[in-house]
Amino acid sequence: TGPYTNGHVDTAAIDSAPVHPTAARRDIPVVYRGAHVVADADKIQVTPTVQDFEFKTVRKVQKTGLMMVGLGGNNGSTLSATIIANRYNISWRTKEGLQTPNYIGSVLRASTMRLGTDPATGKDFNIPISDVLPMVHPNDLVLGGWDISSWPLDKAMNRAQVLDYDLQRQVAPYLAKIKPLPSIYYPDFIAANQSERADNVIPGDNKQDHLEHIRRDIREFKATHGLDRVIVFWTANTERYSDLIPGVNDTAVNLLKAIETSHSEVSPSTLFAVAAILEDAPFINGAPQNTFVPGCIALAEERRSFIGGDDLKSGQTKVKSVLAEFLVNAGIKPLSIASYNHLGNNDGRNLSSQAQFKSKEISKSSVVDDMVDANHLLYKPADKSLAEKKGEHPDHVVVIKYVPAVGDSKRAIDEYYSEIMMGGRNTLNIFNECEDSLLATPLILDLTVLAELLTRVTYRRVPEDGEFQSLYSVLSLLSYMLKAPLVKPGTDVVNSLSRQRLALEQFLKACLGLQNEGDLLLNTRIW
Ligand code: NAD
Repeated sequence: TGPYTNGHVDTAAIDSAPVHPTAARRDIPVVYRGAHVVADADKIQVTPTVQDFEFKTVRKVQKTGLMMVGLGGNNGSTLSATIIANRYNISWRTKEGLQTPNYIGSVLRASTMRLGTDPATGKDFNIPISDVLPMVHPNDLVLGGWDISSWPLDKAMNRAQVLDYDLQRQVAPYLAKIKPLPSIYYPDFIAANQSERADNVIPGDNKQDHLEHIRRDIREFKATHGLDRVIVFWTANTERYSDLIPGVNDTAVNLLKAIETSHSEVSPSTLFAVAAILEDAPFINGAPQNTFVPGCIALAEERRSFIGGDDLKSGQTKVKSVLAEFLVNAGIKPLSIASYNHLGNNDGRNLSSQAQFKSKEISKSSVVDDMVDANHLLYKPADKSLAEKKGEHPDHVVVIKYVPAVGDSKRAIDEYYSEIMMGGRNTLNIFNECEDSLLATPLILDLTVLAELLTRVTYRRVPEDGEFQSLYSVLSLLSYMLKAPLVKPGTDVVNSLSRQRLALEQFLKACLGLQNEGDLLLNTRIW
């Protein structure tokens, strides 16, 4: 008995559960407590704030399609093969023995969260995150998308050289049926070395026509498969940054006008994002370029459509967001963080070109900024009287080299060089090696599944708001899986992995009408 019924949490049971009078009843709001802090020269004034919220989640999971841009790449083909293997329970032989399919690396499907305490034993009660609320099962995702390479997914998987041969052999007949739709190719945005695979491109150079074409593809995919929801996911090559030009991509109106006039600074990824926004399909950017130019974010806000990004946070950056936080929060002062990568897959090939590397360098570099900014004891803040001056910051370099021999098995070497007490020094070296696509692919699944869930959540402030409304367009709750999280303009980026995860857990609890008790754990601290 109890609210957990081996599927997802039974909210009907929560509704009637005689728990604490302020908790767990859906007619009793979630209390959101914060504090306003005003500091001047001689005092800090803290005022507690409190706001009641109600959350409503549609329990019926939508039939969901995932349309990947870059479907025929390492991520796209690996993800498709993984879903097929899981869906049909295909096992394969490796030199270590029989391997069964799984979703290891997916936060939703392979990790648990603490829901509360079992009153009988006083012990924590943990459940798979995917069971907290009804969520799409990855096996049920309908797969499709675009690639500038025409290769069907069986051949694309083979080209990627990620999965074992015995698995490839068995999933190939399923994957052969998935063929990427022709895509938008503006050679200037990705490395010149990608041109040889571009045999599947939408003709012409009229950007408005291209936009309409992609919108039609989304609508047709939705209709053909009888879908309630389509998620569009950029897992194509990293593009160079678009120039931000006033009058071109600064507002929604200007961006739409720039598309109409085929302005050269509108990138393929921005066109895909605009198409998805206009079709009310959540769009997630798994690569580092600035797809979400200000006009694109404004358009999403205007249409109340959902966007999330940027860049999948798979290996090195994930570790960095943990280690840098650990050091700075421990009161240790990183003086330099030097990161080297080499990899030999097509992503590495594309990143061997300077303009595309630049996009990646930017997204990898910002990860320690908020932790450094938060600790003014270790790092001298910017001098406000000198507007230009930046605050003190550790030296931070990122190097990426293309080494074909190692294929998809990426190597990342990081040195953290820190100051400790009384002028001492501490050096930490991390060597991280793994198949890049096998770390990234589960993130695509998590982002897709969460995005679908968040389209079903509405909220209202009580007592002020009448109607429930959907969440803000930029889904910053996806930050855990993203290297350079996009947040509501004007709000702080949170890079700390533990804070990102906590936010997600607390939000899911709020949707259940459960107050967050965090790690206060009063039952373990009082009589
Ligand atoms: P990949 O090069 O194997 O695949 C990219 C695919 O995109 C290719 O098949 C290419 O033909 C296609 N493509 C390029 N431009 C396109 C366009 N305009 N429209 C449609 N298709 C297009 O790369 P990957 O390893 O699958 O990575 C995909 C993206 O994810 C890259 O941008 C990469 O930087 C990013 N990423 C990957 C990881 C990881 O660990 N694998 C981590 C973070 C970010």
